[in-house]
Amino acid sequence: MKARIVFLGTGGDSIVVGKQLRASGGIILQIDDTQFHIDPGPGALVRARQENINLRENTAVFVSHSHINHCNDANAVISAMTHSGMDKTGVLIGNKTVMEGEGEIKPYITDFYKKCVERYISLDQGTKIGINEIDVKTLYTRHSDINTLGFKFFTPEFILSYTSDTEYSTALIDAHKNSDIMILNVVNPSGIKQEGLLNTDDAIKLISKVKPSLAIINHFGIKMLSINPITEARKITRQTKVQTIAAKDGLEVNPLSYAAKSKQKTLMGYK
Ligand SMILES: [Zn+2]
Repeated sequence: MKARIVFLGTGGDSIVVGKQLRASGGIILQIDDTQFHIDPGPGALVRARQENINLRENTAVFVSHSHINHCNDANAVISAMTHSGMDKTGVLIGNKTVMEGEGEIKPYITDFYKKCVERYISLDQGTKIGINEIDVKTLYTRHSDINTLGFKFFTPEFILSYTSDTEYSTALIDAHKNSDIMILNVVNPSGIKQEGLLNTDDAIKLISKVKPSLAIINHFGIKMLSINPITEARKITRQTKVQTIAAKDGLEVNPLSYAAKSKQKTLMGYK
């Protein structure tokens, strides 16, 4: 199996994204011939080109919620993927708000682009679907878009989970358990509390319970950038004993290097 995670962006608040201090093109997950594009925010097309990612190869686009730094370029990515519907291909998975709207919020994905893909699905938290060899489960979050989804990808070799934007809750421990690799949207450093978002202290609590092989912090706000996410990642590593890295734009990770945990489990299962 071949696998790769590529960060097309790591910006997490309106200042960082607005000034493009960090990019906001989302995350690419490649597993053999399957390519997932998660949360394509502003600049996704440009960042894909810069990192040599061919968006025509997207198998599925995942949009966790309706905030602009997660969904802004979803329609544009679908257009690139499908030649604006000339080649109806791929799957679009979005939360209720981006797909159907919520209260006064209009659906961010337009009817036209929904019809450009082979299949579009609006999901609630806690549901499961299969795409090629991979099972995907939508996870609990608590965020200002009440329908926000975390995602957990069950591949034959490893389990990867993504918190999306959420505040800390013990429900996250159960949602992310057994993950080999966790990607956490840690907007703020230690001591800075903001409703609906994780900070370093929350990340420490969550990572020390889930104990993945690798944790990647991502989606940084301006206060996090001014402190330096690398310092915060080191603090998390020290306190949780879990290897934790701070994502930067263009970071590539080979998830297979961190698959030991689930492999071990499988072996134990056979005994
Ligand atoms: Zn958000």
